[in-house]
Amino acid sequence: MTQRISFPRPDDRILPDRILCQSPPQQSQSDKENKVIGCLLGLAIGDALGASVEFRPHEYLVEKPVLDLQGGGTWGLQAGQWTDDTSMALCLASSLLTQRRFNTYDQMVRYKWWYKKGFLSSTGQCFDIGSTTRASIEEFCQRQNILRKHFPHITEERIDSLPLEEVRKVREFSEFCGLPGQAGNGPLMRLAPVPLFYYRQPEEAVQLAGESARVTHGDEKAVDACRYFAALIVAAVNGEFKDQLLDEKFIEKHRPWFKSQRLHPEVVAVANGSFRRPGGYKDGIRGKNYIIQTLEAALWAFWSDGNNFETGVLNAVNLGDDADTTAAVYGQLAGAYYGLQAVSSRWGRQLYAHKLLICIAEWLYFDGNQNQSGASSRQQRIAPQIGLQTPKNSSVGIMGYDKQDPPKAVSHKNPFPPEFNPHRPKENQRLDGSKLPPAGKRSGL
Ligand SMILES: [Mg+2]
Repeated sequence: MTQRISFPRPDDRILPDRILCQSPPQQSQSDKENKVIGCLLGLAIGDALGASVEFRPHEYLVEKPVLDLQGGGTWGLQAGQWTDDTSMALCLASSLLTQRRFNTYDQMVRYKWWYKKGFLSSTGQCFDIGSTTRASIEEFCQRQNILRKHFPHITEERIDSLPLEEVRKVREFSEFCGLPGQAGNGPLMRLAPVPLFYYRQPEEAVQLAGESARVTHGDEKAVDACRYFAALIVAAVNGEFKDQLLDEKFIEKHRPWFKSQRLHPEVVAVANGSFRRPGGYKDGIRGKNYIIQTLEAALWAFWSDGNNFETGVLNAVNLGDDADTTAAVYGQLAGAYYGLQAVSSRWGRQLYAHKLLICIAEWLYFDGNQNQSGASSRQQRIAPQIGLQTPKNSSVGIMGYDKQDPPKAVSHKNPFPPEFNPHRPKENQRLDGSKLPPAGKRSGL
């Protein structure tokens, strides 16, 4: 069997730039694959550009605008390292690639791994998490006690690896931990893997984007913002032009993608053009945590970027406040529209674990392609070969890193020059999480 990606087990504490990933077997890179990779890389670059100034007010950024990747600041990261936006997106991608379907239970397990054990964090620790996301993950941890009662004789690892059909048999359990009123931007910042995996099936992409939000955020505005934004990413990957994406009749013109379900009026207002404000911040555009404002700000940056990714992503960051997330959301759409080269030309080579990100995007493209025919990847249709995962079997799939039989071959479609040595943060290379200073002490504030 083709060696895929060896995502580590959470207790292995393997940092992302140490994860081995072999590109899928395929021919030359297509324009659509280029856009798929650009989308995921755009997310991470936006995140990394905004990381050092997260929570800084706009006035601060007027005085000291971000013009380049920079370390220090809010989290004391090194230039190019990314935060929760990218970590959660990678958790979602790893679930889609490991499960080869949309499995919300597995998604929450991986978010828990990130929260508790720093799974797919650029530092090996969860240092940046939204309050709603944290509350929902903690609620999920509590709810897993219900599963432990139903499956009393299996290990903790197997509880986390329960097949979806087993979880569904436990009627009092649900992994959908979001509540009404939770309309932060958490689901939007991590969204990209869903539309990238399903872009060939727009209806599924849109519906599952909404489901991906519900596990942590229960408000219909959050769900519908993700449905609309997934539709934009799908349309961008499929080659629609910018004026089509930003058309005030975009939803109407793509009505079948949304089926008969109407979108929340606040999402519709953004789609109808509320982001068209030439003055940006002065005209009311805000880089706040509220998902409607994030959506609007990201679209404003896309609308006003002069067809230049660098301009747009820096404009998003320099709105201030939730700077990394505004830029990560912009980066998803702009990356899907402009493609890999435009996104990576300036900052790609400095981005932490960029080879892994590219490889994961390649697999999203490749596996999504496989899912196009035959067995559906829909959540409720259960692939028969899915069973309890055991560490012994981990080398046959992408789940788990088998220490006895690590993958040897590593190849990447690296768009960067061969002389480039990928940035690796020295301090954070340690696999022993205890050696890392706690988040508070890492703050440069
Ligand atoms: Mg963040």
